[in-house]
Amino acid sequence: MSGEPPLPVRLTQALIAAESVTPARGAVFDVLEAMLTPLGFAVDRFVTGEAPEGPVENLLAVRGTGGPHFAFAGHVDVVPAGTGWSAGAFEPVVRGDLLHGRGAVDMKGAIGAFVAAASAPQDRGTLSLIITGDEEGPAIHGTRALIDRMRVRGLQPNMCLVGEPTSTHRLGDTIKVGRRGSVNIWIDVPGQAGHVAYPHLADNPIPRLVAALAEIDALVLDTGTDWFQPSNIEITDLAVGNPATNVIPPLASARLSIRFNDQHRGAELGERIAAIVRAHAPNAVVRPVVSGEAFLTEPGPLSTLVSDAIEARLGLRPELSTSGGTSDARFLSALCPVVEFGLLNATMHKADEAVAIPDLVALADIYRDIVARALA
Ligand SMILES: [Zn+2]
Repeated sequence: MSGEPPLPVRLTQALIAAESVTPARGAVFDVLEAMLTPLGFAVDRFVTGEAPEGPVENLLAVRGTGGPHFAFAGHVDVVPAGTGWSAGAFEPVVRGDLLHGRGAVDMKGAIGAFVAAASAPQDRGTLSLIITGDEEGPAIHGTRALIDRMRVRGLQPNMCLVGEPTSTHRLGDTIKVGRRGSVNIWIDVPGQAGHVAYPHLADNPIPRLVAALAEIDALVLDTGTDWFQPSNIEITDLAVGNPATNVIPPLASARLSIRFNDQHRGAELGERIAAIVRAHAPNAVVRPVVSGEAFLTEPGPLSTLVSDAIEARLGLRPELSTSGGTSDARFLSALCPVVEFGLLNATMHKADEAVAIPDLVALADIYRDIVARALA
C-alpha cells in the first residue's frame, strides 16, 4: 500500500500502539480522547473499582442533544499478547493489505471505525460512544458502570451497536441480535469419612452426588426458540480426590456450566439445580455464579437498519445470529435495543491478530451509514 493509510487505519494503528492489556487505563484513553475532542464530543472519563477486579477506566463521549440518540459501544482493553507473534504485538504493522497488532479485530479496529464514522458531519440528534477498559477481564466495573453513569446523566439512547467482531467468513455475513446467558454452578456434597469395611459408621457422598448428576444430565431445559438453540447443561468437573483404597471420602464435588436462552434466568436455573441436588443430599452446598443473562433484540427496526447499511456497501444480507459466548451487549440490552456487528473474528485473541485494510475501510463506511440512517 502506497501513500498515507486511510483514516480508520491510522486511528486503529494509534490505538494498537497504546498497549492496553485488560484492565486498561491511561494511555489508550488519552489517545481516544485526543481523537474525539476535536470532533466536538464532550468526553467524560472515570476510574472505578478496586483490586483485584479494578481499578478500571471508562469513557463516555457525547455529541449533540435531543433525539434520536444512537450509541456505539465497545472496549479498548485487549487480551495479553501471548507468544508466537511475527513482530511486536503492540507495534501496529501493515503487511500486504493486513494490519497486524493485538486488538486489530477485538476491537480497536471497530473503535477506529467508530471514530472515522463520527468524523462525518452530524446535523441533529445525539451520538455517543460507550467505551470500557474492562470487557476482556471480570467486566464488573466496565459497561455496567457506564450504564449507571448514563442513567445518572439522563442519557437514554434509542439504539446501540456493539462493535465486537461478529463476521465469520466475510465482512457483514453475520450480526448478533442476542446471546445466550451463562451460569456456572459449584456443588459440594459433604459426607462422613470412614473405613470402607465399616460403612455403617460412615456416609459416602459419592453415590448421592452421582445420582443427582444423573438426574441433572437428563434434564431437558427447553427445545430452543425461533432465535435460540436449546439451552444446554454440561458437567464440567467431578472431584473427590481420594488417594486411599480403604477410605470412604468426606466430600464429593462437581461443577456445571449452563448456557441458556431467553426462556430462563440464571438465578432460576441455580435454584432448580439446587432443589435436585438437595433431594439426594439435603446438606449439599450449591453455589451458582451467573456470568450473564440471555438477551434478544427481536429482529425489527435496528437489525433492519444495520442489515440495510451492510447490504448497501457490501451487497450481502447478514445472518441474524445468537451464537457464541457472552458480550457486554448483555448489559446494554437493559438500556435500549442492541445489536453487535464488527470485523472478522478468525484471528481474535491469537498471535498475529490482523484486520484486512479493505474491511476496516468498509466497516467505517457502514458505521457512518448506520449513524446517518439512525439519526435521520
Ligand atoms: Zn471484544
